[in-house]
Amino acid sequence: MTAKVIDGKAFAANVRAEVAAHVARLKAEKGITPGLAVVLVGEDPASKVYVKNKHASTIEVGMESFEHRLSAETGEAELLALIDRLNADPAVHGILVQLPLPKHLDAELVINRIDPAKDVDGFHISNVGLLGTGQKSMVPCTPLGCLMMLRDHHGSLAGMNAVVVGRSNIVGKPMAQLLLGDSCTVTIAHSRTKDLAEVCKRADILVAAVGRPEMITGDMVKPGATVIDVGINRIERDGKAKLVGDVHYESAASVAGAITPVPGGVGPMTIACLLANTLTACCRANGLAEPKGLTA
Ligand code: NDP
Repeated sequence: MTAKVIDGKAFAANVRAEVAAHVARLKAEKGITPGLAVVLVGEDPASKVYVKNKHASTIEVGMESFEHRLSAETGEAELLALIDRLNADPAVHGILVQLPLPKHLDAELVINRIDPAKDVDGFHISNVGLLGTGQKSMVPCTPLGCLMMLRDHHGSLAGMNAVVVGRSNIVGKPMAQLLLGDSCTVTIAHSRTKDLAEVCKRADILVAAVGRPEMITGDMVKPGATVIDVGINRIERDGKAKLVGDVHYESAASVAGAITPVPGGVGPMTIACLLANTLTACCRANGLAEPKGLTA
């Protein structure tokens, strides 16, 4: 079997186009422009690239982008004061603090200072609790993107066996909650899981969010399963820098029914879902109907 390739790049382009169309209508009919504030503390090169991409994507869909670049020495009080100002600013509907923060700053404290209604990353403890109890929340972007692709591919996910490898707060756990919300039978695997291959092989839906290059190989995949590879790993092969996922693509694709590639799978969906979340937050803040198909 050769798996169908789930084209995250094309899917994300469609999501962004949908968001842009919705934003244009909001502007024309209500005079409202959704706004996203991104806060970057320090000079981490990868974070700088992410923030630059987020800014460009925000502008591209017609939203306002507010960038706040602070020095690596910024103190906690100063950062919290900025978040308070953004919380109070009616032009700002979404707030994202780029992680990781410099070591002297308490990320949990900072994230939990964001108004949960503006927490477009979905990391605030209130949003985590709302998602965990099946209530309306802001949903973390990467798992939301995975869910959208899975719904698009399968229609209903009810009754499917889903295995999520990885239990981080930003990917693994919310992914598992979302799959449970769509009535999958969910297993979460992690570094202490016994016989990971056997656990993975039971999955109709296998989500890899491990951070280990090409760890999930074809012999761990059930024939016909849908494989979602969240991993982004920079490796060197044959003297060249290369981006690979947590799944060994060639061997998994020869067994799976469908698979997301790296790059071009989950990655592009993350920014698209950030824009979708900002639009959702803006609609909720203004008491307007939420865009269909762009939330969990
Ligand atoms: P974390 O490092 O926070 O979590 C990794 C998880 O994998 C942990 O729960 C860990 O288990 C588990 N794990 C580690 N080794 C093994 C193993 N040998 N067997 C089974 N489980 C294992 O990573 P993240 O969740 O933040 O990210 C995961 C991957 O997704 C990374 O490659 C990251 O770059 C990528 N990513 C991609 C995004 C995108 O936009 N596409 C966004 C965010 C992340 P334990 O808890 O027991 O330690």
